[in-house]
Amino acid sequence: MGRPLGDVLASGELSYSFEFFPPRTEVGERALWDTIRRVEALSPTFVSVTYGAGGSSRDRTIAVTERIAEETELRPVAHLTAVDHSVAELRSIIGRYADAGVRDVLALRGDPPGDPGGPWNPHPQGLTHAVELVRLVKECGAFSVGVAAFPERHPRSPDWESDLEHFVAKCRAGADYAITQMFFRAEDYLRLRDAVAAAGCDTPIIPEIMPATDFRQIRRFAELSSAVFPDELARQLESAQDDPAAAHRIGVDHATRMAEQLLAEGIPGLHFITLNRSTAALDIYRNLNPAPAVFQAA
Ligand code: FAD
Repeated sequence: MGRPLGDVLASGELSYSFEFFPPRTEVGERALWDTIRRVEALSPTFVSVTYGAGGSSRDRTIAVTERIAEETELRPVAHLTAVDHSVAELRSIIGRYADAGVRDVLALRGDPPGDPGGPWNPHPQGLTHAVELVRLVKECGAFSVGVAAFPERHPRSPDWESDLEHFVAKCRAGADYAITQMFFRAEDYLRLRDAVAAAGCDTPIIPEIMPATDFRQIRRFAELSSAVFPDELARQLESAQDDPAAAHRIGVDHATRMAEQLLAEGIPGLHFITLNRSTAALDIYRNLNPAPAVFQAA
């Protein structure tokens, strides 16, 4: 596995990473593994697998993460949430990852099951905030731990400043790096980065890149995350609703331009949401890294 991810990111090496979710069907499983193999050919710094709200989806996260660790050259980061888990259950999952050689966990509180905007009720023997999960994972062994960051504040936070304070507390509790929520304007990320630095915190914050290639889907994601979706991009995508190739180009071009702006600002890396499909994320990656060999072969 090599150096801990925290050390890699702290060293200033530019990181590229890709996010997957655990599929529900066999067809989905095949699409995921096809994407994983294409991503593997790029030797990214890491890949991550999201953690669902319920039992079977959670088992699939663990199974996919373990399989990536066992069968590929990739470094898997396991997302883990505190939703509906006692501390004992969380310890057991973390132990299972350790046994499979997974040394990287993204420690999240999670959203209330059913209604992500509803009230948050912790498990009676569980944890209330992600900061506690950061400490728990660190107590369980030599893990690199990541946390979530919200450039436009967490949708349930009363204000941006308190959200910033709670974010810095997660870093001080031992988080080695952070990955942001999706955003569509570079200035939102830069504002957070600069405020975190001004608070004396140097935890690397990796921007998450969500290719906006589907108007309806992206509008729903943006509503859920409270990310501001620029009017011009929305207009362009709306007018291309019946032309998937044009919508793809619009989303990829926008994400490429934003990524270039962020790279020029010295970001630690880029984390691409793939939705288990390789096309948009890999097109953006190729625009940023015009290294032809891998793509000619693909
Ligand atoms: P926290 O850091 O606990 O913050 C939650 C809220 O509580 C914020 O409003 C914060 O300001 C506030 N807060 C924090 N600490 C305190 C405190 N001590 N006192 C008072 N208020 C406090 N969800 C999933 O279910 N599965 C996933 O795989 C997943 N992956 C994600 C990946 C990324 C990169 C991101 C950005 C989010 C992901 N999420 C995932 C969503 C995440 O679980 C939700 O956004 C959740 O509501 C917040 O999680 P958190 O870890 O930021 O929580």
